Amino acid sequence: MNLRQSVFCAILSAISVSGFAQEHKFTRADTLRGSITPERAWWDLTYYHLKVKPNAQDSTLSGSTTIIYKVLQPNQRIQVDLQQPLLISKVIQDGESLEFKRDGNAFFIDLKKKQETGKAESIEVFYSGKPRLAKNPPWDGGVQWIPDGQGNTIISTSCQGLGSSVWWPCKDHMYDEPDSMQISITVPQKMTDISNGKLLSVVENGDNTRTFNWVVKNPINNYGVNMNVANYVSWDETYKGEKGDLPVSYYVLPKNLDKAKEHFKQVPMMLKAFEHWFGPYPFYEDGYKLVEVPYLGMEHQSSVTYGNEYKMGYRGRDLSNTGWGLKWDFIIIHESGHEWFANNITYKDVADMWVHESFTNYSENLYTEYYFGKKAGSEYVIGTRKLIENKAPIVGIYGVNQEGSKDMYYKGGNMLHTIRQVVNDDEKWRQILRGLNKTFYHQTVDGSQIEAYVSKESGKDLTKVFDQYLRDTRIPVLEYSFGGKGLQYRWTNVVAGFEMPVRVQIGAGKEEFIYPTSEWKTIKVKSEKRLTVDPNFYVEARESKTS
Ligand SMILES: [Zn+2]
Repeated sequence: MNLRQSVFCAILSAISVSGFAQEHKFTRADTLRGSITPERAWWDLTYYHLKVKPNAQDSTLSGSTTIIYKVLQPNQRIQVDLQQPLLISKVIQDGESLEFKRDGNAFFIDLKKKQETGKAESIEVFYSGKPRLAKNPPWDGGVQWIPDGQGNTIISTSCQGLGSSVWWPCKDHMYDEPDSMQISITVPQKMTDISNGKLLSVVENGDNTRTFNWVVKNPINNYGVNMNVANYVSWDETYKGEKGDLPVSYYVLPKNLDKAKEHFKQVPMMLKAFEHWFGPYPFYEDGYKLVEVPYLGMEHQSSVTYGNEYKMGYRGRDLSNTGWGLKWDFIIIHESGHEWFANNITYKDVADMWVHESFTNYSENLYTEYYFGKKAGSEYVIGTRKLIENKAPIVGIYGVNQEGSKDMYYKGGNMLHTIRQVVNDDEKWRQILRGLNKTFYHQTVDGSQIEAYVSKESGKDLTKVFDQYLRDTRIPVLEYSFGGKGLQYRWTNVVAGFEMPVRVQIGAGKEEFIYPTSEWKTIKVKSEKRLTVDPNFYVEARESKTS
């Protein structure tokens, strides 16, 4: 039994989180990585300048991060994260070298200068070493070094979950983002680096290297930061969107230029559909880029990475088995959907990763609906239900960098599709999705804030619906029977207080809502004794003879 499975079994057996944590021995390193430690809490991250020089000859990195922060309350010890085997070699504040000590992948730096509330301060953290190789990116990430067959090395980074401290020193917790960032990558003369934001300058260093300086003008989450080094060719266009002109750029390997120019026509289509559903693209100032990489892809903010082999679907497959999933490129649509749900609205704790993945999974359905109609979108999302496992809850364990089950994708998408049915007002539902992106614009959030917002704006108390689908593994069963009194029905297999309305058809009658609770309810039935539940609701129905 691997750790992931044991975690899930523990949740299923309803062991308390603290008991669970002891039983499963989350380590001090998990807590240092996954919680807001005292050495993190006292300072507000405002700016990073990351400078990195990758060396393909020995797969090493060297460089530094300048961290500018605001003092929230006085403290003389600061935590900066960097994963082994990388090591911090030196830390400077105001020209003075500081003492530090390593505790696993966390470094505790003792500041000499008195830290006063409200003041802006900075440190520069120098580092080097051979970073962890990405074994199976993007899921098992790190740094990839891939020969391009032309004598060059393609270098790419991916680190969701693992954390960006796998390749650069940072405050590696999602709750705090810098307001802006500069990324400076030094590469061999003929190579190009594509990182996040806009290219400020390319500086010739006179030693057969050049430095690409990228400026990110918006808050950015840690794992969204990336470095992509290759012999790229590119083209640009302007997308006329809801907030005006959005610069769009594409970077691909020279051999793929022709097919990319055709295939990437899906990008403006994606922008049009998602601006309709979710509101303006959240990073106009940083532009949108699609960057070819040697792995499947990742939602790197404003530089979405792409490795879906220029195929439709997910590597040429339709995850829904309905045919609709082959009408578009999964990576272009899914990873770009994350610009709204992941990069604009970002979880504070990876336990709430559903905020990224459930909405983005759902965006696939909305994209399908935008171009192929509402029925097509429904068929797509319903088609993905066969991928749901219901073995463990969607929400993970807080404070130890522990995500929940992969049901956060298909089950999460089906939960949102179900809630849309409950809201029963498509325009209101669209305004809720747009409202989320406006209300939580460029923020890190707790999942509970998203749940509360959807409840409030829909005018329906969805508390128990979220509990059912996010924190329980059972699927609601509408139990019903036809007796002398009429149709009797109730919810079973549900959390206490679950009272979700559901759309049904009784006999050949009109579709209508019924309002089941855990107690039996009865309605008179005129004709045929047959009940059909609207398949858009992710529930089960079971005729009972026992009522
Ligand atoms: Zn995703």
